[in-house]
Amino acid sequence: MLKSGQHNLSSKKINSGAVKVVEQLQLSGYEAYLVGGCIRDLMMDIKPKDFDVATNATPEQAKQLFHRSRIIGRRFQIVHVRAGSEIIEVTTFRAQHTGTKNQPGKSQHSSKGMLLRDNIFGSVGEDAIRRDFTMNALYYCPQNNNIFDYTDGLSDINNRLIRIIGNASERYREDPVRMLRALRFSAKLGFSIEEGSSAAIHKLRLLLADIPPARQFDEVLKLFMHGYALAGFHLLREYKIFGILFPATEAALEGESNYYLKFIEQALINTDKRIRTNQRVTPAFLFAALLWPALKEREGKDHQTEKVNIFSLHSAAGNIITEQCQRLAIPRRFTLPMKEIWELQLRLPRRAGNQAFKLLTNKRFRAGYDFLLLREDAGEIQPELGHWWTVFQDAEEADQKEMVGAVQSLKNKSSKKSIHKKPSSHQKT
Ligand code: ATP
Ligand code: MG
Repeated sequence: MLKSGQHNLSSKKINSGAVKVVEQLQLSGYEAYLVGGCIRDLMMDIKPKDFDVATNATPEQAKQLFHRSRIIGRRFQIVHVRAGSEIIEVTTFRAQHTGTKNQPGKSQHSSKGMLLRDNIFGSVGEDAIRRDFTMNALYYCPQNNNIFDYTDGLSDINNRLIRIIGNASERYREDPVRMLRALRFSAKLGFSIEEGSSAAIHKLRLLLADIPPARQFDEVLKLFMHGYALAGFHLLREYKIFGILFPATEAALEGESNYYLKFIEQALINTDKRIRTNQRVTPAFLFAALLWPALKEREGKDHQTEKVNIFSLHSAAGNIITEQCQRLAIPRRFTLPMKEIWELQLRLPRRAGNQAFKLLTNKRFRAGYDFLLLREDAGEIQPELGHWWTVFQDAEEADQKEMVGAVQSLKNKSSKKSIHKKPSSHQKT
């Protein structure tokens, strides 16, 4: 039922580009509203990540109205309109599909009920019930400051509840990514997932294995890169979804060592902190951390005997990444730096001669050094090497040379010791 609810949302808080797009559509005789996450976030005094507009203009009609716009997507066509530095997504109202019957060219379901195409247009009321959660189906008109609520989203926001619209199983089958979205919003907003919406995730979580790896990567990135990665990770594990996304890491986490869990949690705490303080985070660092337990397990024995070398690291890293990309398609622009960050973990202890000076100029030095500190923070290794590098980076050249000299003489001593040791160990055998 439609309710035009009481609210304290003011159009002043809304991105002016998005308002202009709505106004332009309305002036041209179309119906248009701001919709989705931006209204939900504004209701809660959170700065929206992006602004979405819903309209009864078709993608073609909308595109003609805006000079700087283009139609994107096939499965779900939308129009991107550039307004200043912002891109506003303009979506045409979608309508309910008639059962699971495919409508050639417009709507298409897979044999498992997954919606492959969704381009049947409808009215605003029909559009509301095609959206994922009630809190995401609020329509706002900046002209008269009204919010239109077709699914009782305002009361769910008041009760801090994430509720899927319609039949939970059907809606998750239609698009399993909605399960990931439920967890993401729960982590972001601190809302609970309503009972039926939550039970169906436990039942259907394995459908997430069927999502194309490229889309899966995008969704997982949204979950980990917006300041609530730790909460998101805990929810993924609680719902036994982490193992679907990161099978090798989950296997390592289920092993005996609880160091891995500490390591990942520490990585995510750091990521969240950096995002909150507007520091740069790169997906390469994040994924290097998320897959580190898997890599260490793969190399396990070698690491313990310190026999691991760059060659064996490369081969294990290559295998882990190839396997992982079957679930999440991590682009090459991230997998290459991931491997470099891992490789630096072998190189940072080697500081004699001019190696330390050379490492400082390595373009991945900073990330490798941060990764080393993370391993130390989580208790994988003693916090000595990281401290050495912290001091070395900022020292005067003369002091740096002295530090390298000290490392060199320590190395000489220990290699002398091992020369002396050799005959005795030989004698034993
Ligand atoms: P945020 O942008 O903060 O991550 P959002 O809710 O705006 O959250 P978007 O991915 O920007 O998420 O989607 C905009 C809106 O489109 C949503 O609020 C929802 O109404 C609808 N939507 C997005 N993805 C789906 C989906 N998989 N199924 C149904 N509706 C969806
Ligand atoms: Mg959004």
